[in-house]
Amino acid sequence: MRPEILYPFFADTVSLPGVGGRIASLLEKILGRKLADIFWHLPVDIIDRRACPPLSEIKYDQIVTVKVTIDKHDAPPRGSRRPYRVWCHDDSGSLQLIFFHAKGDYILRQLPVGEERLISGKIEVFNEQLQMSHPDYMVSPDKQDDIPDVEPVYPLTAGISGKVMTKIVRGALEKLVPLPEWQDISLRSREGWPPWMAAVKAAHMPQSHGDLQMNSPARARLAYDEFLANQLALEIMRRHNQKKKGRSLKVRGALRAQLLKNLPYQLTNAQTRSISEIEKDLAAPYAMMRLLQGDVGSGKTVVALLAMLIAVENNAQAAMIAPTEILARQHYVSLLDMTAGMDINIAVLTGRDKGRARKKILDDLQSGEIDILVGTHALFQKDVIYHDLVFAVVDEQHRFGVEQRMALSAKGRGAMDMLAMTATPIPRTLTLTAYGDMDGSRLDEKPPGRKPVDTRIIPLGRLDDVVQGIKRALAGGNRAFWICPLVEESEVLDLAAAEQRHRHLEQIFGPRVGLVHGKMKSKEKDDVMTRFISGDIDILVATTVVEVGVNVPEATIMIIEHAERFGLSQLHQLRGRVGRGLAQSTCLLLYGNLSGTAAKARLEIMRETEDGFRIAEEDLRLRGAGELLGTRQSGMPDFKVATLEENGQLIGVARDDARLIMEKDPELKSERGQALRILLYLFERDEGVKYLTSG
Ligand code: ADP
Ligand code: MG
Repeated sequence: MRPEILYPFFADTVSLPGVGGRIASLLEKILGRKLADIFWHLPVDIIDRRACPPLSEIKYDQIVTVKVTIDKHDAPPRGSRRPYRVWCHDDSGSLQLIFFHAKGDYILRQLPVGEERLISGKIEVFNEQLQMSHPDYMVSPDKQDDIPDVEPVYPLTAGISGKVMTKIVRGALEKLVPLPEWQDISLRSREGWPPWMAAVKAAHMPQSHGDLQMNSPARARLAYDEFLANQLALEIMRRHNQKKKGRSLKVRGALRAQLLKNLPYQLTNAQTRSISEIEKDLAAPYAMMRLLQGDVGSGKTVVALLAMLIAVENNAQAAMIAPTEILARQHYVSLLDMTAGMDINIAVLTGRDKGRARKKILDDLQSGEIDILVGTHALFQKDVIYHDLVFAVVDEQHRFGVEQRMALSAKGRGAMDMLAMTATPIPRTLTLTAYGDMDGSRLDEKPPGRKPVDTRIIPLGRLDDVVQGIKRALAGGNRAFWICPLVEESEVLDLAAAEQRHRHLEQIFGPRVGLVHGKMKSKEKDDVMTRFISGDIDILVATTVVEVGVNVPEATIMIIEHAERFGLSQLHQLRGRVGRGLAQSTCLLLYGNLSGTAAKARLEIMRETEDGFRIAEEDLRLRGAGELLGTRQSGMPDFKVATLEENGQLIGVARDDARLIMEKDPELKSERGQALRILLYLFERDEGVKYLTSG
């Protein structure tokens, strides 16, 4: 239950002055729907109006507040496109105010001839003449207080102007109430951090550029709060998992020996190392929580199978869950393939299995006939009862929430061992924040014999050449992915671009061109993907929804349109879908505009390396440097305030803090404990609160 004190912070943004349905949904796209989401929308710049120089001293363009006397109005004749000009002066010089499309009588009323006015805005120097177009403020000298000394500048989104955004934030800040302190007081005083409410206010009222830095006291405090919420939530989950006694599963070896004989290859060192790490966990009497990280194609499936066989050798069951139907079926097929001739029963269950077929699987599962069950969310539905499930593999784990992991783990009799897998390599600093509750294994070595993907950076202007090249390649039996760009933050526009490209390619290549996008039902998506896998179509146009991990060995060409708009990890994931077979693969990064240095650097790194771990580190390094809102990465934890680049060193502190808190006050009952519960809810990291026994 959310603490009452937070209720106002969770109110819908439409409750704010100036926010209606339209604005609320624009806000939702970039921030969220709650008042509290607005708190974290921090200014990126300031407008400093404190400079009040005599006019004669202004030598370059700058923002100033000046006191002037109005001399003369120069209104353009009706129908003229000339601007409206107002002349004014101070003791030292003169200034021209300029208004385009002006309402003359309004300006006359605002700036009566002969009177004094305080004018604030940006002065531009034109041939030694000072001009100001559309001043931000024009007030009489007794209204000086109407002009703020310093104004925050907020990141915007199409449809919300700076003025409106500032008003929205002000409205949200009015609802602030102080919250009980959850931070360790000695840490706070050592760092010189303000209390929470003061920190939020200060973060929105920067007085200098230094205040905009993420290491300024106000912002650092908020960043630390967020890390602490993150680490505390993970620590709660970790303890919860540890409390559960797991079964000790020992390697017997018969099935493993058969499997290794079956495989047409030797395990890589990384695979061998990972499986022995897993083995140790399984043998221990507590529940395993391990994350296996490895690039697409690094060979996670066989590691998962080896681990599942340990469960089977112990006369128990294992399950493997994937986020989509296609992935589940692909896993099923490759498990069958690897275990051919072995005495082991593997089945698959997805939402598509209905009626009799489903009933048969459920019966066999309950009787223990099935050793390994592969599937989708269907695996933890209510009526799915296992004979003795002891081990679960979760593929693409970031696609599943904590709730879902829990639902699956509840299917075991006792505590279950879990192996989570991800093809999104995560920088070491991030592992702490994303997976602090898990131990990690890394497949940082590719199976031998892989041909590197030939990666090229090509301007979009050469699209025709590219199309000709693809024509030749398809004639030779290849298949191609064609990924369409992200257009702003709008799915509708994304879709329009993809549909247009699809039509264009159809005109060239005929009907063997398919299209998948995020607005399609998953069944429709699966159908198109299946046709691509079977070779029914040979160009697949897609928005970024192409399922991670989908295996189409015949696909050797990956075209990414407007590659400069994608994040590095995203590009890497996309490229990972080719280069899976024996043939040489190609990745074409088509760019429209490479003016941003970060975009250029990203594409160059892509050309340089295929090492997912290195790419993940570079990605982190390059991000933050003026990136757009909304380029969120899958698999990366989302922080609302904190930035890993600038606040990263606080994560370790927060982790130690969280561990100490839970050691001293495991149920968060103390005064500080109660405050920490509020913190968890504030940052919506409260999944674990129900596992705290009381309070
Ligand atoms: P991931 O799930 O990590 O993307 P997969 O498990 O699907 O990767 O493996 C990709 C391909 O590599 C599969 O065709 C698999 O048979 C093959 N493979 C796995 N391990 C090895 C190895 N040690 N040597 C050679 N090929 C391997
Ligand atoms: Mg895989």
